[in-house]
Amino acid sequence: MVKIDIDYNECDGSECGECVDVCPMEILVLDGDKVVIKNLEECSVCEVCMDVCPNECIEVEDDED
Ligand code: SF4
Ligand code: SF4
Repeated sequence: MVKIDIDYNECDGSECGECVDVCPMEILVLDGDKVVIKNLEECSVCEVCMDVCPNECIEVEDDED
């Protein structure tokens, strides 16, 4: 089961949007000025979103169980 955590205290939302731009599966989308997670089960755990986040406030974890 994939788990994505966004620390909204650190996230710049629509002012940043880097993770939204790079996610190949369109899991991360903007809802107003906030990044929300859609279709989590389609996440490929590529970790690109984690790599691009300037605030290191998004974490993707694949818990195999
Ligand atoms: S790990 Fe990859 S597929 Fe999953 S949300 Fe991040 S960028 Fe999208
Ligand atoms: S890349 Fe990081 S700071 Fe930017 S919108 Fe995504 S989670 Fe927020």
